[in-house]
Amino acid sequence: MKYILGFMVLMAVPAVASEDIADQYPQSVLYSKPVEVIPHIYTATGATAPPTYENAGHNNNLSFIVTGDGVVVVNAGASYRLARALHDEIRAVTDQPVKLVIDENGQGHAMLGNNYWIAQGVPVLAHVDAAAEFEHSAAQAHEALKVYARENAEGTVPMGPTETFTDQKTIEMGDFTIEVLHLGPAHSPGDTQVWIPAQSFMIAGDIAFQERLPPIFADTCTACWIETWETKFEPLNPTWVIPGHGHPTNLAQVRRYTRDYLVDLRDKIGAYIDAGGDLAGAYYVDQSNWAHLDTFEELATKNAGIVFAEMEFE
Ligand SMILES: [Zn+2]
Repeated sequence: MKYILGFMVLMAVPAVASEDIADQYPQSVLYSKPVEVIPHIYTATGATAPPTYENAGHNNNLSFIVTGDGVVVVNAGASYRLARALHDEIRAVTDQPVKLVIDENGQGHAMLGNNYWIAQGVPVLAHVDAAAEFEHSAAQAHEALKVYARENAEGTVPMGPTETFTDQKTIEMGDFTIEVLHLGPAHSPGDTQVWIPAQSFMIAGDIAFQERLPPIFADTCTACWIETWETKFEPLNPTWVIPGHGHPTNLAQVRRYTRDYLVDLRDKIGAYIDAGGDLAGAYYVDQSNWAHLDTFEELATKNAGIVFAEMEFE
């Protein structure tokens, strides 16, 4: 009986992306197959886990818009092979050629696939700060890829974008008007949001997370992230949101698991500093509200230490 119950518990695990669940698309190097979220806008949801051999670094969302006069891809992905696999999926749903790739930021999982697209003659657009970030970190990101992805790193050669923008850029293509935005500082340099106003559809990039804990980096300003969220991101009031990580959802959900997390962590660290706490104990402030999220084990204490360092002198 005990064994039967154990089996039933296993069967009851929900079918969401998690580091505990096997690859959802074993026929492809992609972690999951793209789905059409609303007409003509697709996304392949990445594993809500760190990059591993099993997910091949497909742990963020790779999206595309079939405009009627060409395809716009959002994120080149973590490798040449991931970019190529996404291209295979695009060809399966349309004959329209890919005309533009937009990278969400300067991290490896946004840009290491650039060289696949550049080899196809497709321009790659990123924010100027994301391009600078990638130039600085690409060699290290490429080394990490080779270690975890092994043969799936083959073909990858770090290349920055072929075009950059500063404030925003509007793309008119087919039936779509696409606004490529940099709303302000958030998760990493040059964070880019792809906003499709007529459909009220936001491909948010790493300003927005759900299902897994957001990572906070040493150069992340969490106060700025919250300000950008409240003054620039949320007023756009998208009906649909594809976050940087986690399934397509709505604004309330990404607010809860991104903005609310940052506010809660800053409240806890602020109270801890007011009580005279030092860095050694800051790692262990209470984050139990978020313990059910994927990557909690990997990131919670690290995030707390970084926010302590940020807030210590505020
Ligand atoms: Zn990301």
